[in-house]
Amino acid sequence: LKIGVPAETHPGERRIPVVPDVVKKYQGLGAHVVMQVGAGVPAHFRDEAFAEVSLVDDVAAVFGEAEVVLCVQPPTTASIAAMKPGSVLLGMLQPWADAERVKLLQEKQITAFALELLPRISRSQSMDALSSQAAVAGYECALIAADHSPKFFPMLTYAAGTIRPAKVLVIGAGVAGLQAIATARRIGAMVEAYDVRPETREQIESLGAKFVDTGVAAAGTGGYARELTDEEKARQAERLAKAVGQCDALITTAAIPGKRAPQIISADMIARMKPGAVVVDMAAESGGNVEGTVAGEKVWINDVLVIGPTHITSRMPVHASEMYAKNLFNFISPFIKDGALALDWEDEVMAGCCLTHAGEVRHAGVKQILG
Ligand code: NAD
Repeated sequence: LKIGVPAETHPGERRIPVVPDVVKKYQGLGAHVVMQVGAGVPAHFRDEAFAEVSLVDDVAAVFGEAEVVLCVQPPTTASIAAMKPGSVLLGMLQPWADAERVKLLQEKQITAFALELLPRISRSQSMDALSSQAAVAGYECALIAADHSPKFFPMLTYAAGTIRPAKVLVIGAGVAGLQAIATARRIGAMVEAYDVRPETREQIESLGAKFVDTGVAAAGTGGYARELTDEEKARQAERLAKAVGQCDALITTAAIPGKRAPQIISADMIARMKPGAVVVDMAAESGGNVEGTVAGEKVWINDVLVIGPTHITSRMPVHASEMYAKNLFNFISPFIKDGALALDWEDEVMAGCCLTHAGEVRHAGVKQILG
């Protein structure tokens, strides 16, 4: 079985889908990795580190030879065209983002597995790239907030007195939000947090943060949140305004799968924040939780700095790649037997993750959204 790894071409992307330790694991199953020269360099893995891999100059050779292609970002039109019909593509394929790309995969008879579609059951946790990458992003967002704050995060006692710890508010307490809470707490901030899923109260409190109760609960299916009604949005905004007005740093991580990120923080709420407050909108790339966020920019709104970081996980590509590479391996390895690929369509995790196969769009949810 040949597993192809082309270099990532998406601007700003530094992660890679295999790391040297994981290559050894593929080899142990009788598979062989074919990688584009220099593919690992942006993540600080030199070609020499991939001793067991066939390194090829030409990306067409990677696509031409591979029966399984691993990627971080979805492939370009040209890359899809270069793939072998019937081959397997595995990665974060942003299934809802581009109907044209899904059509191309379908037409090329690619068996595409989008890890965003992974059914979130206990067995699939070790394959869950959304979670591993969200943990990286949450950690980074807390550091970005601390780095841009004009205040200390921790309490600090010095010869002339005591500095009070910063107040951090985290909105959205999924995987990323919980990691942001834990990181801000470790740096010494006082943290409050809020999520629409009621079960997050216990998780927030277990990290030593305070739950902000807005009285709005909106648990959806599969462990995710559902979209709020207009009445719920108004109630949430009213109750959150006070906590937003009192914090020194606000980190927002709220998301609804397949939808634009919910806008939770209005311009009016920003206008009432403390001078010098910092906002890190982790959802900037998917529309933003904050009115006025610009993806990839730092914007001053009055005296409040609103940061819309992009490619957050590429800020720490070594560990983000290690985590991601293991997720991909854990997904595909059960189907590599004696050096050959044997997919099992009875497997609910594998089947549930399938975007396209044999010329069809397989995922009902994506089909519905893309029409
Ligand atoms: P996500 O990235 O889709 O969303 C981030 C958070 O935003 C969620 O906690 C969501 O409730 C929250 N949110 C959405 N709309 C909001 C609003 N209007 N106001 C405030 N918060 C809002 O979610 P995620 O972090 O990928 O996962 C969410 C949960 O799924 C996890 O915390 C966990 O309980 C579950 N999960 C289960 C598994 C598994 O069993 N394999 C794996 C990962 C996650």
